[in-house]
Amino acid sequence: MSDLFAGVDLGGTSIKCVLGDEQGKILFRKSIPTESHAGPEAVLSRIGQAINELTHDAGCKPIGLGMGVPGLVDVPLGITRFLPNLTTHWYDIPAAGILAKHVNCPVRLLNDVRMATLGELVFGRGKTVDSMVFIAIGTGIGGGIVIDGKLRLGPVGAAGELGHQTIAPDGPPCGCGNHGCLETLASGTALAAAGIRLMLMGLAPGLHTLVGGDANLVTSELMAEAARQDVPVMDAIMQAADFLAIGVANVMVAIHPDLVVLGGGVANMGDLLFDRIRTQVRQRVRMFPAESVRIEPSDLGSDAGIMGAIALAAQKD
Ligand SMILES: [Zn+2]
Repeated sequence: MSDLFAGVDLGGTSIKCVLGDEQGKILFRKSIPTESHAGPEAVLSRIGQAINELTHDAGCKPIGLGMGVPGLVDVPLGITRFLPNLTTHWYDIPAAGILAKHVNCPVRLLNDVRMATLGELVFGRGKTVDSMVFIAIGTGIGGGIVIDGKLRLGPVGAAGELGHQTIAPDGPPCGCGNHGCLETLASGTALAAAGIRLMLMGLAPGLHTLVGGDANLVTSELMAEAARQDVPVMDAIMQAADFLAIGVANVMVAIHPDLVVLGGGVANMGDLLFDRIRTQVRQRVRMFPAESVRIEPSDLGSDAGIMGAIALAAQKD
């Protein structure tokens, strides 16, 4: 049997734990609730327990573990600095060291979207390219940048926060403290808010039927379905796509990547979204042929994070 590596994707509501090999084949997996109110020690202990259960099933121990975390992390030290979506925020928690004691192997941490970028680079769309941009469009918007085959992290691991580039100078306030960030205009949250507003104003009867009038059920995917009959919903999606295209065009002129990968729930809208973004990016990038830069959906979908975690665990340096 080839060497085993463990991957963990720590989310706000659930934690994915897997064992896989160096080729990115996932052999065993388990999902547990996060229950972050219990604090980091308890969460890390349950992650250790889940990995040890998978190890028992596999009959073989992992030789390294990678864990993606939702926020700021000191990568060389393996210390979480600020995880805004977890109850106690995990300020300065030596999470790698604590988890390593539970699983008896080296543990490496990385921001979750940078981890998904690494997954896409090593096992997904990025396998054949040198420079790549990954943008995850979900509840928020995260990102990652690969230049010359290497993930760009920056001094505090925050390089690639593409959701927090300013798109509208006087736009809505953002959780980061800025105004008019891409995330405030084109995230799944922003898009659903636009859909709910249209529905409540009586301008989206198709969407109203799809969700039975329940605003809590409005998602970007259902909006894409409703857009076939609700023109205002289509307009809202096109507007979000245009904002995303500005964000993509900005990063494209900065680093001229070979590939831009869009992931996250909003990217599941498919051609409706991608066709508009591709067209708009070509309108905005004029200094070099933008057609040569591919803009593609993620190859790994919701597994990009854990695949990245396996790639990080298996990295030699
Ligand atoms: Zn922001």
